[in-house]
Amino acid sequence: MLTLTRAIGLVAGILLVAIVGSCGGGASAQAPLVIGGVTAAPGAVASGEITIAPRAGDAGASIPFTIVRGKTAGPVLALIAGTHGAEYVPIIALQRMRTSLKTDGLRGTVIMVHVANMPSFLSRTVYYSPADNKNLNRVFPGKADGTLSERIAEAITREVIARATHVIDLHCGDGNESLRPYSYWITTGDPKVAEAGKAMALAFGLEHIVVDGSRPTDPAASVYLSNTAITRGKPALTTETGGMGVVDEQSIALIERGVGGVLKHLGMRDDGPAPIATPVWINQNEVLRAGHTGLFYPAVAKAQTVTKGAVIGHITDFHGTKVEEVLAPFDGQILYVIGTPPITKGEPVAMVGK
Ligand SMILES: [Zn+2]
Repeated sequence: MLTLTRAIGLVAGILLVAIVGSCGGGASAQAPLVIGGVTAAPGAVASGEITIAPRAGDAGASIPFTIVRGKTAGPVLALIAGTHGAEYVPIIALQRMRTSLKTDGLRGTVIMVHVANMPSFLSRTVYYSPADNKNLNRVFPGKADGTLSERIAEAITREVIARATHVIDLHCGDGNESLRPYSYWITTGDPKVAEAGKAMALAFGLEHIVVDGSRPTDPAASVYLSNTAITRGKPALTTETGGMGVVDEQSIALIERGVGGVLKHLGMRDDGPAPIATPVWINQNEVLRAGHTGLFYPAVAKAQTVTKGAVIGHITDFHGTKVEEVLAPFDGQILYVIGTPPITKGEPVAMVGK
């Protein structure tokens, strides 16, 4: 049972967290951090679930998370995995980090969202939720009275992004995407937030960084998870490591190195890898989309360099007749290419970066 003093303290703590979260400053380690009704005391690790109640005939969802709280004050770094449910490398990386990240020597707090998109994860779907056929990373900041994906987005915005000072949305190639590692640095919005995001990208340490100046700046229509943080004044990063439904040690190691680099950069740990010294900036990129529904046959591999007009792959109808050849729009490198046969008109077949 709560004593009155403790209850008042708890409410004050929640208010303090809310105020700190909304201005993007450092959180006091003295204040309790409450997510989904779970409190992590300074120096403690706590896990729980954010529950999305069923609505309008859907089954609802749960969002499992862990809070690793340092003993002393510092930033609140949110690490989010499984925004796309068939992107397994980040999910497994956070399963490991849940026990490998120690509170000793940690300043501030790390929030891990283990599987953001549980309906998609358990149903093994790429891109879209089986509940509403929506892409979770296109419905932010979400809607409390919306479809299941919109309610998941709203809960992540309210419970996680609002509590964080910095956010990393950890992706990989989806279950059908053969992808080389890279991160997205979002340059739109407040220049100070963008500069801080650039420093996070360098600290994470993936060599290839896509410079992305095309994200919306309206916090009420932020669309993407990391952009929801950025439009709320919090530096954020989207990373891509792994793909094709494979869990590989090399891709997991990139995330572990990346998070270690960001923790050091933010002053949350004394030790950690140095920022990447010679990044490859990708200033131009294009997602090539299918003009037909049918079967896709790739002609290139991830990380391959291509010249303008080179064949990326072709699409046939279901009787084997070639209906489309996909060509490189400019000289560049294949960041990802679809590696399984199904293709639907309008969906990506590859991403090329320059
Ligand atoms: Zn993704």
